[in-house]
Amino acid sequence: MSLCVPTFTDPLLAPIADKVVAGEPLSLADGVTLYASRDLHGIGRLANHVRETLHGNKAFFNRNRHINYTNVCALSCKFCSFYRKRGEDGAYEMPVEQVVETALKARDAGATEVHVVGGLHPWLKFDYYTDMLSGIRAACPDLHIKAFTAIEIIHFSRIARLSIEGVLTALRDAGLGSLPGGGAEIFDDRVHDEVFKGKVRSDKWFEVHRTAHSLGIYSNATMLYGHVETVPERVGHLIKLRELQAHSLATAPAAFNCMVPLSFIPDQSELGHLPGPTGLTDLKTLAIARLMLNNIPHIKAFWIMQGIGLSQVALDWGCDDLDGTVVWYDITKREGDRGTTHQELHVTDIQRLIREAGRTPVERDTLYREIVRHAESALALS
Ligand code: SF4
Repeated sequence: MSLCVPTFTDPLLAPIADKVVAGEPLSLADGVTLYASRDLHGIGRLANHVRETLHGNKAFFNRNRHINYTNVCALSCKFCSFYRKRGEDGAYEMPVEQVVETALKARDAGATEVHVVGGLHPWLKFDYYTDMLSGIRAACPDLHIKAFTAIEIIHFSRIARLSIEGVLTALRDAGLGSLPGGGAEIFDDRVHDEVFKGKVRSDKWFEVHRTAHSLGIYSNATMLYGHVETVPERVGHLIKLRELQAHSLATAPAAFNCMVPLSFIPDQSELGHLPGPTGLTDLKTLAIARLMLNNIPHIKAFWIMQGIGLSQVALDWGCDDLDGTVVWYDITKREGDRGTTHQELHVTDIQRLIREAGRTPVERDTLYREIVRHAESALALS
């Protein structure tokens, strides 16, 4: 590595830094040591060292729009404030035409991606999802469709009576471009049984992503942290992601593009009595994700879950991506009941935030290819 290796006030970090510089994977014990350390700036500098080695001064963003097609869900995960039961106040499901119309509006506003996820609707047929994809594909042939978490894919395999490979192939043929990383939560049976028991266990999440990679479909990974999990469970989650990534890189035509640590927001969920993670836990987790995941290229500070201010700081703590314009996001509202689903950052605001953090804003597409716009069209779209 050509960049200066940082120094530490905590001597326990020095051997970890040696491993990082040598490109060796960190162990569970290393991850736990990082979380326990009071040398917060040392951890940040080490994560920044990796981030700058990989991406220099670039900070990525994209023009995207999230579409949450329904909040009706057969499950009731304790950490979730999004789901409603059918007929309940606030429950909704978008007709396919509305989803397509929303995608068209996004395309017309300059978006390169739609991010489409929803609840596990008990009555919608599999055709609804393939029609949605083919409708978007026909209306906006150049728009990348990133859609459906692993748990939705499992749900489709049940309602369509198809294998996971069969579902993914049908969705890809209808227009699916890549998978988002949601539904991972924490890969641990104890945590699973305590807060999202109705969901499939982690082996199924991995099966979906492993199969997607084998079919050439790229995906992202997430971790919902700061609720009932312990630090070793958090670090174990990261190691499991790293192991699948190693497998995919060695055997498959696609792999994880990006890891998105998601800060748990307790408001309105059944876990509303919990305090939620602090800013320091957020920063440490983002930095430790960068350090543990030496084979996943990008770490994202998703500004909706981390907050705009902390995401800006996170660009020095291992993160190289802020996500995008988003526009509408129904799954989490940072301000709880007072919040609105209209959560949008304009491109000029994202660029300003990145520049103020001393980084160079780089627009990317979903697969992290850089997008260069001519000045005139960039002005029209900002
Ligand atoms: S987290 Fe997903 S699966 Fe669980 S209740 Fe919420 S929408 Fe449903």
